[in-house]
Amino acid sequence: MSSIITIALSKGRILDDTLPLLAAAGIEPEDDIKKSRKLIFTTNQPNVRLVVLRATDVPTYVQHGVADLGVAGKDVLMEHGYDGLYEPLDLKIATCRLMTAAMKGATPKSGRIKVATKFVNIAKRYYAGKGIQVDIIKLYGGMELAPLMGLADEIVDIVDTGNTLVANGLEPREKICDISSRLIANSASMKMKHASLQPILDKLAQAVGAE
Ligand code: AMP
Repeated sequence: MSSIITIALSKGRILDDTLPLLAAAGIEPEDDIKKSRKLIFTTNQPNVRLVVLRATDVPTYVQHGVADLGVAGKDVLMEHGYDGLYEPLDLKIATCRLMTAAMKGATPKSGRIKVATKFVNIAKRYYAGKGIQVDIIKLYGGMELAPLMGLADEIVDIVDTGNTLVANGLEPREKICDISSRLIANSASMKMKHASLQPILDKLAQAVGAE
C-alpha cells in the first residue's frame, strides 16, 4: 500500500510557477488552488495531498515531518537552516537574487553600519564574512523604506527586476547569491516513505529538465 504524501507549497509567486511543474509530474489539485480559501487540497493522485502555506512556514512543516515534501525559496531555506531537511532538487523557478542595497549615490559608510532585513541569519553571516560590523534590524516587509526613513544604512532583500529598488530611490550594491525555489524533503520521510516519494522526485526532476 502506498503511504499518504503531503506536499507543502509556498503561496504567492512561487505557487504560480510550482503548479505547472506539479501538473507535468502528474499531480493536480482537485480544486482551484489559487481561488480557494482552503489550505489543504486533495489531488488527482489518491495518496498525494497539498497544503498551501506562507513561504517562511514551509521548511518548518517539512522539518517536523507533518509534510513530507515542500517547495521553498533558497532564501527562506538559508534563513531557516537545514535541520531535518534534504534539498533533493533545484526546481529552477521563481529565480531572483539576494542583494544588499542602499540609497542611490550614497557613499558606503565606514565602521559599524545598520542593516534592515527579514533575512537576519543570512545578513549576519554575510557581513561577518566580509569583516563588516553590523547592527541588524529585523523587519517583516517593505525593507526599501528603511534607508529612506533613516532607519538603516543598507538593506538585504530579494531583487528581481530591480524596479522596487529604483522606485524607492535605492540601488543594488552587492549580490549575496542567486535564488531559486527548491524541492525539500523531510529526512525521516525520505527513508520511511522512500517507495512512494522516489517516483514523485523522479517525475519532478524530469519536469524540471523538460522546462
Ligand atoms: P523587483 O521590483 O522585480 O526587483 O521585485 C522585488 C520584490 O518582489 C522583492 O522585494 C520581493 O519581495 C519580491 N520578489 C521578487 N521575486 C521574488 C521571488 N522569486 N521570491 C520571493 N519574492 C520575490
